[in-house]
Amino acid sequence: MIDIGVNLTNSRFTKDLADVITRAKSAGVNHCLVTGTSVEESQKAISLCQQYPDYLASTCGVHPHDADQASDDFVETLRELASNNDCVKAIGECGLDFNRNFSTPENQKRVFTAQIELACHLQKPLFLHQRDAFEEWFTCLKPFIGQVPAMVSHCFTGNQRELEICLAHDMYIGITGWVCDERRGKELQSIVNLIPLDRLMIETDAPYLTPRTIRPRPKSSRNEPSYLDYVASTLAELYGVEKHLIMEHSSENARQVFQLGGAHD
Ligand SMILES: [Zn+2]
Repeated sequence: MIDIGVNLTNSRFTKDLADVITRAKSAGVNHCLVTGTSVEESQKAISLCQQYPDYLASTCGVHPHDADQASDDFVETLRELASNNDCVKAIGECGLDFNRNFSTPENQKRVFTAQIELACHLQKPLFLHQRDAFEEWFTCLKPFIGQVPAMVSHCFTGNQRELEICLAHDMYIGITGWVCDERRGKELQSIVNLIPLDRLMIETDAPYLTPRTIRPRPKSSRNEPSYLDYVASTLAELYGVEKHLIMEHSSENARQVFQLGGAHD
């Protein structure tokens, strides 16, 4: 399996990262894409990839929450970081998040659009975040559809109409442990099997979004990539297919889009 969204630069992983990676490998996770959420975190993500070159790759970008803090020359810095082609496989995570507006909507849009243009220029896939901002998010993306190698809507939690629009425009859809949540994941559970298997990717978004289906319940609230299997299991149930199909298709999609080498599954 490939975990396409892991925030391994988060301070909650500093102490025992080697163990986290060992557990992920034993749990059948063959590759992880470390999420870059700001210029600094993207730099850290690249250093991690250099420590585990056969196992980690990364994105580089500025999350909408961090848009207010983006420096005037952030695009130049991202461009330099992204030239590290062995590590950096996508631009992002970038997008819009109007849920709590940690950055102003104006700055979010400006910083998002600059990154879409960068992905287009560098011909790298976009790793996209969106919350409570679908219409404006899609308006920003629309002129660039077909102009970047791929668009991946990471941690998709939208409704059926939004899902259908993403799919109609050939996006890949990343599903997290949100789908394992018996309460807030209900709507996603009812529509997730509309995603064709050749558009599906899976991710933990660790340390966030710990699957609520883990048994026995873990002592720590911290999510980690070794729990990716719980996302695959829930998806297998919802699709009514065997789990190996979810694993194989999502891995193949991630491998192709992010140009990851290495062992199969
Ligand atoms: Zn996100």
